[in-house]
Amino acid sequence: MPKKSDKLPKKSDKLPLHAELSVELTWDLIPLYPDLKSWEKDFKAIDPLVKKFMSYKGRLAESPEILTEAIAAMDDMERLTEKVYTYAHLRADEDTGSSHHSALMDRINAKYAKISGETAWFDPEIMTIPLKTMNKFLKSKALKFYKRSLKELLRERPHTLSEKEERILGLASDIFSSSHKTFSKLNNADMKFPRVKNEHGKLATLTHGNYIEFLESHDRGVRKGAFSAMFGTYEKFRNTLASTLDGTVKKHVFNAKIRNYPSVLEASLFEDNVPAEVYNNLISAVKTKLPILHKYLAVRKKALKLKKLDMYDIYNPLVPECRIKVSWDEACRWVREALKPLGKEYCALLENAFSQRWIDVMECKGKRSGAYSSGCYDSHPYVLMNFNGTLGDVFTLAHELGHSMHSLYSNRNQQYHYADYSIFVAEVASTTNELLLHHYLMKQKRDKNVQAYLLCHLADEIRGTVYRQTMFAEFEKMIHEKSENSIPLTPDMLSAEYYKLNTEYYGKTVEADQMVEMEWARIPHFYYNFYVYKYATGMSAAVKLSKNILSGSSEKLDAYLGFLKAGDSKDVLDIMKDAGVDLSRPEPVLEALDEFGNIVKQLEKALL
Ligand SMILES: [Zn+2]
Repeated sequence: MPKKSDKLPKKSDKLPLHAELSVELTWDLIPLYPDLKSWEKDFKAIDPLVKKFMSYKGRLAESPEILTEAIAAMDDMERLTEKVYTYAHLRADEDTGSSHHSALMDRINAKYAKISGETAWFDPEIMTIPLKTMNKFLKSKALKFYKRSLKELLRERPHTLSEKEERILGLASDIFSSSHKTFSKLNNADMKFPRVKNEHGKLATLTHGNYIEFLESHDRGVRKGAFSAMFGTYEKFRNTLASTLDGTVKKHVFNAKIRNYPSVLEASLFEDNVPAEVYNNLISAVKTKLPILHKYLAVRKKALKLKKLDMYDIYNPLVPECRIKVSWDEACRWVREALKPLGKEYCALLENAFSQRWIDVMECKGKRSGAYSSGCYDSHPYVLMNFNGTLGDVFTLAHELGHSMHSLYSNRNQQYHYADYSIFVAEVASTTNELLLHHYLMKQKRDKNVQAYLLCHLADEIRGTVYRQTMFAEFEKMIHEKSENSIPLTPDMLSAEYYKLNTEYYGKTVEADQMVEMEWARIPHFYYNFYVYKYATGMSAAVKLSKNILSGSSEKLDAYLGFLKAGDSKDVLDIMKDAGVDLSRPEPVLEALDEFGNIVKQLEKALL
């Protein structure tokens, strides 16, 4: 998953082409496909696999053996398609301007769309197998391996409608998504932001991509200018934006009602088998720890020497990025050293990331911005970076390698069918690695500025991931509940409620410009149906797990490695519990925020 700090590529014609980069700093895609010819061969090999899978249509109830064969055929088809897709997307990201590579992407995307349309019969057909027959099937030896995933699918049975109703809903799905689509078109294409002054006093057009750079400016006027321009623009579209959000929330409510879920929240958490208490516990736990956030904001206000702290004074770094220039070799060495507490086996596997060239390191012309870890079951993981030698880049490296190692462990220890871990746990390993790097650097780098930078970096990460995302989660819950009670989401109500919540979370230290009330309009995640809380639970889990790892206990380390190996072989809450963190309880969130309290104390000492 790309880091949230994705930035748009710098416009520069001076950048080298990907082919001109030194080979050892590029990823090696040969283990995936040695040449285009072999990619084409696999691309063609997808069709017979689809055909084979399709031959089971209408036959799933015949016997457990037939059902097993059908699922295995589906796995074969998906596994190869993923491999073909992975190569195309990695190549396309090397140079997004290459029409040759984007043509490969277009072809595999079209293939994906065709396959998902043709194979949509599978789940509904499973649901039509009589319960008695299915229970007999599940006891059979043949289906033993797939029992867990079938049971998962069958949990949805009480929420599945008749074939005719499902068909109607399927045909209407495109219409149902029009509110969200309208929001995306308006937000990404039609809405234009004004020109604002940058740090050099020059006018530059504000975009979604550069907004954060303005907010990170040390010049308060620049920050305020961008903030006012951003929310002023949203204000102009407040009626349309309230309507698109209202339409999407109504869709979620409609879906929950017709599918017999007790509430829209429970409908959304159903897929991960997460009870509503986890969501509600998160909100109440964060609320009890709001005073720590207020303390942090007071430290920030004092450190910035401001008379008044506004919402546009929250994102600028308290210690502007330390001017240490980190070489690539040094970055790799720090990450290696920082991850040593994860044990010999982990470190030996991690070494492959460097020796087998998993990482595409440098920025080049047309390369996709930001950073991510990707790959498939039949390849080792790949990491894309745009390394500039900042301290932040070293954290990005540790983060992405956390994803990579999680995938590697899961792929090595699970069969394909259960290897792909859930989004619920997706950011845990990456964040844990960042925390281990923080711990290592705090011990190694005694320079006062570097220490202050590290503390700020972590404090802002926890503030943004736990407090801010939980505030979003609470807002999301509130608007869905209103909609369930047939209260329309008007722009006045959305703005008033948002401002109220913002005041509660940020406390009295922040005297928020009234314009922040429009922030609800620019958060795309509000269209995703209860997604953001996973950022907060993931960070809380990582805080606990990194402490477990650093405790030196071999049992705790094994429990953590067990999580990396688990893939999707169990329910997410069970996987986390076995790893050493019980997310059904409020304690992990409370403990993570107490840790935030410690960081704030250290920060106060370092800065004031
Ligand atoms: Zn990530």
